Amino acid sequence: MSRFLSVIAVADAVAAAEKIAPAQKTETVPVEQSAGRVLAGDIAADVDIPGFDRSVVDGYAVRSADTTGAGNSAPSLLQCIGRVAMGTHDTNLRIGTAECTYIPTGGVLPEGADAAVMVEYTEEAGDTILVKKTVAHGENILLRDDDFKTGEVVFHAGRRLSPQDAGVLAACGCATVMVAKKPVIGIISTGNELVPATIVPGPGQVRDANAPMLASWLREYGCEPRLCGIVKDEREAFETMIAKALPACDVILLSGGSSKDDRDMTAGVIAGKGTVLVHGVAIAPGKPTIIGQINNKPVFGLPGHPASAFVVLIAIVRPLLDKMLGLDHPMLPTMKAILAENIPSQRGREEYVRVKVEKGVATPLFGKSGLLNTLVKSQGIIRIPAGFEGLEKGSDVEVILW
Ligand code: AMP
Ligand code: MG
Repeated sequence: MSRFLSVIAVADAVAAAEKIAPAQKTETVPVEQSAGRVLAGDIAADVDIPGFDRSVVDGYAVRSADTTGAGNSAPSLLQCIGRVAMGTHDTNLRIGTAECTYIPTGGVLPEGADAAVMVEYTEEAGDTILVKKTVAHGENILLRDDDFKTGEVVFHAGRRLSPQDAGVLAACGCATVMVAKKPVIGIISTGNELVPATIVPGPGQVRDANAPMLASWLREYGCEPRLCGIVKDEREAFETMIAKALPACDVILLSGGSSKDDRDMTAGVIAGKGTVLVHGVAIAPGKPTIIGQINNKPVFGLPGHPASAFVVLIAIVRPLLDKMLGLDHPMLPTMKAILAENIPSQRGREEYVRVKVEKGVATPLFGKSGLLNTLVKSQGIIRIPAGFEGLEKGSDVEVILW
């Protein structure tokens, strides 16, 4: 077996990952807990919203024609024939010529009225109301179904729901909503040198940065991370950990040990218990990436360097998660920026360069791949496609924000 990785293109790795994505699972959640979740079916309005013509101001419901020419010096004098009460519809309340009713915000517009005048532009004189402003037909009112019509699809499946969406869902009659179940992602850190954050590292030891980083991103992305712990670079330890994690997880992410060194266990263990589909991707950072399957579940081997693991998570694992979640478009916030410096790149591999963004200008943070600091000093990454030898200073770039 060759000691070198034979790499495939990022697009092919993504396709291989998407192909093995487990089918979307769904669950029903209370609407007030739906924000951030991905809608699993279309939602239509079950009633007209609003359900009746209504005022958007506190004031008087009027026939707009009766206010023509009204102003401070020449008010229209209207007869107040009643008050609109909230939460009821008094069908006997009808406005004739030169008549009006008091109406609060959200009250049902009485028969005959076609506008409302704000109370600030009126004066009460017993039953007579002085209207000091001309209002146009339709002014200060909302018509029935102005928002949504009965049967209209308000949200399509695949939408990541926002807090505002929860409000509209409730208005559409949804006390509960069917969403994609959060994929359960097992996270295993590997390496003889790794210790947890609670331990002061001894000689040659490093703290496990990947597990909390991967878990945090996955949680924000709508998954349920499951921290499985650290394993030593020993085949048996790997196998035991994977066997323990697999039944409860939909996907497993291992980090570290994904290359071809004698101490790199991941590929051998996956091959022993399942199938290695991809070993090596033309991506920088992140070349030693593994995509495999054990018991029909995707198992990824991510590179150990935190920055590499993070880039591979976003570029290669994320599309599989999008499929599992049924997302209609990836949730990757981006911004346009102007590049501050030339970035050389090696043709034939897709490069992700960390950048600092200030006032719309993106400055690359070149640093050795093992450094952690560029992960937090950068606001995001720029993708340089495989066919490019670099990007020139001054060019327009899209920054994937993280
Ligand atoms: P590996 O991919 O196992 O060859 O590891 C590459 C580099 O990443 C080594 O310097 C490891 O110590 C480091 N590394 C591996 N896993 C982690 C981790 N979970 N947290 C921080 N550094 C790691
Ligand atoms: Mg290692």
